[in-house]
Amino acid sequence: MLYWDQEKECMPREALSVLQLRRLKEAVYRVYTFVPAYKAKFDADGIKPDSINSLGDIEHFPYTTKQDLRDNYPFTLFAVPMSEVVRIHSSSGTTGKPTVVGYTRKDLDIWSDLMGRALTNAGARRTSVIQVAYGYGLFTGGLGVHYGAEKIGASVIPSSGGNTKRQIMLMQDFGTTHLTCTPSYALFMAEVMQEMGVKPSQLKLQAGIFGAEPWSENMRREVESKLEIKAFDIYGLSEIIGPGVAVECPCRSGLHIAEDHFLVEIIDPITEEVLPAGETGELVITTLTKEALPLIRYRTGDLTRLNWEKCACGRTHVRMKKVLGRSDDMVIIRGVNVFPSMVESVLLNIPGVEPHYQLIVERIGNLDELEVQVEVSEIIFSDEIRQLENLERSITKELESALGVAVKVRLVEPKTIARSEGKAKRVIDNRNI
Ligand SMILES: [Zn+2]
Repeated sequence: MLYWDQEKECMPREALSVLQLRRLKEAVYRVYTFVPAYKAKFDADGIKPDSINSLGDIEHFPYTTKQDLRDNYPFTLFAVPMSEVVRIHSSSGTTGKPTVVGYTRKDLDIWSDLMGRALTNAGARRTSVIQVAYGYGLFTGGLGVHYGAEKIGASVIPSSGGNTKRQIMLMQDFGTTHLTCTPSYALFMAEVMQEMGVKPSQLKLQAGIFGAEPWSENMRREVESKLEIKAFDIYGLSEIIGPGVAVECPCRSGLHIAEDHFLVEIIDPITEEVLPAGETGELVITTLTKEALPLIRYRTGDLTRLNWEKCACGRTHVRMKKVLGRSDDMVIIRGVNVFPSMVESVLLNIPGVEPHYQLIVERIGNLDELEVQVEVSEIIFSDEIRQLENLERSITKELESALGVAVKVRLVEPKTIARSEGKAKRVIDNRNI
């Protein structure tokens, strides 16, 4: 078992709490002093930086949301002058203004270090060859992994997203041992590999570190068997730092959150109450060490639960369950919350179903209709119509019982659903609400 930073990763809880409290006080002081928007919020609530005497006191502070980032577009939440900012990233901003994040030199060092931890967890070493097939650019995925991979001294292939045949050629010729990208892109690579006649056994690929979109355990099994690798889940969001906020250890039963840098809470997304340990709710993160863009109680929109039990790997940091879904991906059908990952989990348990699917939501009259398009394998598709109808019926039954909402299933020919070289588009919402 190898750690990147054993002292921090295996810190006794008590010492960790002391470190967190000291850093929390500094973070709250920093935003109050240098970010007018935070000062105004704290003043309105009658709280001062010295209101923090224990970690639990965080509960008295207001939440920060994506809307706060938008309202302060682009830079007014920054706690340092622009001369201290050495990197700017931003979200794609498909709806309205993008959210903008900044990093100081020290922020980048910490980020690289966290990615070093993450890659080490997945078995990467100095001798590894890491192919970074996350997009490079304003998106934090590519550059985030890149610097972490360099930090551990591995050989980095900055292939970025896209050009799948070339990705596979690089994997073959350069002897890639670790692949990092979205899980859906990894699956697409496996498909193209098959078309090219390249067998996973001909590659040196050992493991993949996949993230930037929610994916189910069944999807993990699918990726692992198709690429013949171990697949690790990594979690992060640009607002907090990018990839590397949490990552699976070799036990792969939850993602260890880097608690020396992030303080986490789980809240009820509707009532906004903090939930007791172990309950499922929305993950809320306070950055403890960020200089350029410190955030207090940031609502991630991600649903998960925390496991405070000691992990067999020896790391003491709390584990979060694989994210069920982002609230952005959630569709509400007749009052029922549906996440694409729930659909995925059901589909991948059914033989003959391919891991490619799409949810299409329409409003017909006043009623929402959910259609799930499901790709089936060549063999199934060449079956008799009656057998296809039977399959369609059994998928419908399984989905309806798992989701609790009526579903129309449509089987589609192999390779008809659009493949993604980045984040997969799972939901097409045609409702005009
Ligand atoms: Zn562990």
